[in-house]
Amino acid sequence: MDKGARCERISEDEAMALAASITPDRLHAIGKAALANRRSRYGEKATFVFNLQINPANICGARCTFCNYAASKNDPHAYVMSETEILEKVETLQPTEAHIVGGLNQVWPYERNLELVRQLRNRYPELHIKAYTAVEIAYFAKCVRKSERQVLEELKAAGVETLPGGGAEIFSERLYRQHWKNKIGPVDWVRIHKLAHSLGILTNATMLFGFGDTWTERIHHLLTLRETQDASKGFVCFIPLAFQPGEGRFITHGPTPLETLAVVGIARLVLDNIPHIKSYWPMSGVETGAAGLSWGADDMDGTISEEKIAHLAGAPTPKGMARDRMTETIRMAGFTPVERDGRFKEAGEGHR
Ligand code: SF4
Repeated sequence: MDKGARCERISEDEAMALAASITPDRLHAIGKAALANRRSRYGEKATFVFNLQINPANICGARCTFCNYAASKNDPHAYVMSETEILEKVETLQPTEAHIVGGLNQVWPYERNLELVRQLRNRYPELHIKAYTAVEIAYFAKCVRKSERQVLEELKAAGVETLPGGGAEIFSERLYRQHWKNKIGPVDWVRIHKLAHSLGILTNATMLFGFGDTWTERIHHLLTLRETQDASKGFVCFIPLAFQPGEGRFITHGPTPLETLAVVGIARLVLDNIPHIKSYWPMSGVETGAAGLSWGADDMDGTISEEKIAHLAGAPTPKGMARDRMTETIRMAGFTPVERDGRFKEAGEGHR
């Protein structure tokens, strides 16, 4: 733990030993070490971005067991956005970053998404476009019979600058077979991110936890990301996602706030080579999200405007946060709010 507090690399054995020693009395020591680590990296700064989540359609046939967002065409909560609706939202909000992800469907096929990115890039040259998970890249490639490389190159040429980190779930073949076997698994997720890095596309990485996963699996996930980053150096941020149980599903409780904070803290200690750790408030809750800043996180994600995925899974958090509330939340947690852009650069003078 001391090595982690000093931002030195924890060995794989030491990281795995952490998994075996997670007890209530040790958790706070993890938090203190992670806070020391984030302070020496970022001082008292805590960043956020003024962003807009765009989820063009929730129709998806992958049937991941943990997903309450996806719908079949005729479900009452199915929706499909039009280009006009999306462009109007962007025009109204003028976000710094657009975060685009959706279900696997033919309502918004690859060419339509590509054209949306082109239109956004043409209208808003400074907008940071973070779009399409590795799962969507693999799906697009399969549907249009192109290689994943070609899809990534075309999206980059159209205006995509970074990939979001979703779809990683947790790197566990056991849970993959149980919960999301109709989409790509851990090996392909890592391969596509490495490919993106080789093309100069920075990416993010998530980990879904609290749905039957073990601490050993969580630490294995972190070590896999660390090893990948050593090789390809393209991950910019890690985002732990606290599972939302929703209604009537295979598990009734998500992780406790303390467990969520412990995941944030351990991520900060293990991921010495990934610059940013996010405390994702839509899934952890605003208070726990803010507390995550004292457990190693340096970023609160963004204002989001209209989060759909976690909220359809029953997240009780607000769907978006105004800039003022975000800065106040960060200040109340004892940190200095700093607005950033999609590449984690601090917003300069004249920045939107
Ligand atoms: S998690 Fe993604 S791929 Fe799986 S069902 Fe939901 S929208 Fe579809």
